[in-house]
Amino acid sequence: MAMTRREAFKTLAKGTLPVLAAGCVSTALPTAARAADDNELESNSKYRKVDEAHALGLLYDATKCVGCKSCMVKCSEYNELKPDTRVDGIHQAPPSLNYFTKNLIKLYRSDDGSDHSYFKQQCMHCIDPGCMNACMFGGLRKDEETGVVWWYGPKCVGCRYCQIACPFHIPAFQWDGFNPKIVKCELCRTPMQKDPSKKEPGCTKVCPTNAVIYGTRKDLLAEAKRRVAAAPGKYYQDKVYGEHDAGGTQVLYLSRVGYDKIGLPDVGEASIPSTLKYSHMAYKWMVLPLLLYGTMVALASKNFAHHSHHLVEEQKETGLRPQL
Ligand code: SF4
Ligand code: SF4
Ligand code: SF4
Repeated sequence: MAMTRREAFKTLAKGTLPVLAAGCVSTALPTAARAADDNELESNSKYRKVDEAHALGLLYDATKCVGCKSCMVKCSEYNELKPDTRVDGIHQAPPSLNYFTKNLIKLYRSDDGSDHSYFKQQCMHCIDPGCMNACMFGGLRKDEETGVVWWYGPKCVGCRYCQIACPFHIPAFQWDGFNPKIVKCELCRTPMQKDPSKKEPGCTKVCPTNAVIYGTRKDLLAEAKRRVAAAPGKYYQDKVYGEHDAGGTQVLYLSRVGYDKIGLPDVGEASIPSTLKYSHMAYKWMVLPLLLYGTMVALASKNFAHHSHHLVEEQKETGLRPQL
């Protein structure tokens, strides 16, 4: 069922006022919206059934990266984002992804300075994305054919649940402006749609060492495994990060340095949505908000009864009628 922003806000207002009154803002907002937009969630879930053979992605091999940041510059250019030079007015060196920066090259250096590695950070294009699952209105989509996860502005209400749900801390929020955007790598989907002569993303096009390459996830995974097999012990734990992590991602990594050190956390092999299955059921039937509301009413009643009893006892002792 299609839902406009206006309808979404109306739904939130109708469905959550009683619970808001009890101070249950954080739990009530998703509940009402989920109940109102179940069909949208149903239709969202079909986007996860991407044919892996056609799913597109990146393979970043940190051992090949020289930290030139050409990929960052090209990413800004392709995506019509102004270079973020706010740190010193000259260099494009933001400390983290933000609404100007969809792609960031970071440098890991060990405490004693003897070891280092570059790290390219952008959306992982999860096979079963936490961000999309957390969105109440369908503001994040997964392309049925390519599996690219993209932001759909007309359905986004700016709640920022996607930011909380992403295990890799990727979506950035546009803090200025009246109609803020969620900004993240969309595998240069829009630049390539606008200009069909662009056959690959900006970052892979300019990388001078082929540290980052573009292709189907199937081919990229085969290439990553070929590199691991060709040089046992070269890559950390002989592992391709993203093959299984968080349910599998379409952006894959190879690194000599531990993945947790360069910014890829140990998130387990279950996808975020699969781990939230039971909490979604609880939200769906308003179990959690009603439980919370009930608990708060019970506590308030108990406190009121205790207070009244205390006042009666005080009146008996002093003969004075206390004020409530
Ligand atoms: S990395 Fe984060 S933003 Fe990207 S698809 Fe996965 S959950 Fe969504
Ligand atoms: S795929 Fe496009 S948007 Fe994503 S990091 Fe590369 S250049 Fe930037
Ligand atoms: S363009 Fe390639 S080598 Fe240069 S920083 Fe980006 S990934 Fe590394």
